[in-house]
Amino acid sequence: MASQEAPQIVWTEKTTAESPAGARVAEPVPRPAIVIDAGHGGADPGTVGNGQYEKTWVLVLSNALAEELRQRGWEVLLTRRDDATIPLIDRSVRANAEPRLAFISLHLNAGGPEASGIETYYAWPKAPEVMARLELPGGVPPDRAIQDDRGRLLAEAIQHSVTAATSARDRGVKNQPQYSVISRTRCPAVLVECGFLTSPAEAAAIQTADYRNKLVRGLANGLEIWLRQAEAPEFGWTHVAEGCEPPLQDAEATGNP
Ligand SMILES: [Zn+2]
Repeated sequence: MASQEAPQIVWTEKTTAESPAGARVAEPVPRPAIVIDAGHGGADPGTVGNGQYEKTWVLVLSNALAEELRQRGWEVLLTRRDDATIPLIDRSVRANAEPRLAFISLHLNAGGPEASGIETYYAWPKAPEVMARLELPGGVPPDRAIQDDRGRLLAEAIQHSVTAATSARDRGVKNQPQYSVISRTRCPAVLVECGFLTSPAEAAAIQTADYRNKLVRGLANGLEIWLRQAEAPEFGWTHVAEGCEPPLQDAEATGNP
């Protein structure tokens, strides 16, 4: 969807003091939100490399991406806006409370000093309690579906766009059903490892506004490319947003990187 496109308007019957019964009143309906999840936070620093904390820089990136997407006209929800400790399961529960367009979890990676680059994860199949409640494109029951491509296509669009924007090494798109936030979130969900804090070069780059702007632009462009693809009639999706709350009684979360 083009960023300059006007908000969606629907016509509803509504009676007010100004308009007689049955008058048609245009009411803007907010689009479902895009959820941005800054990994770790609070008591959980995530990766620590070259003196830098993962939780700090993914929060900076998350806030910058939210600002960029809002300027492009999208509704955005953040799982954390400060240095808060948020359990993994709570991030998915919050995302699942309403229909959402997409969920993007931002992380920074760890490895040897030579390891570098960007990789993007999706999860399929998702956690059993989410699979049981998924509405798949074309009305295919989840138990008969071989693959729901939405998460993978979102991961591919973002991975391609972010590596193009940053010139970082392309480590590819990977399926990881064990990562809690992407497995337990009902809408198409990806986890982006935006670089290695253990790489001296990438730890230095993440501290510059210029490089973070490239990352943010790449993330936002990739997401919008996927949204246009997702909303195209020939793709066969009747709707993009997934909702709502699946039962999450089996709440033992598996770890994020
Ligand atoms: Zn992480």
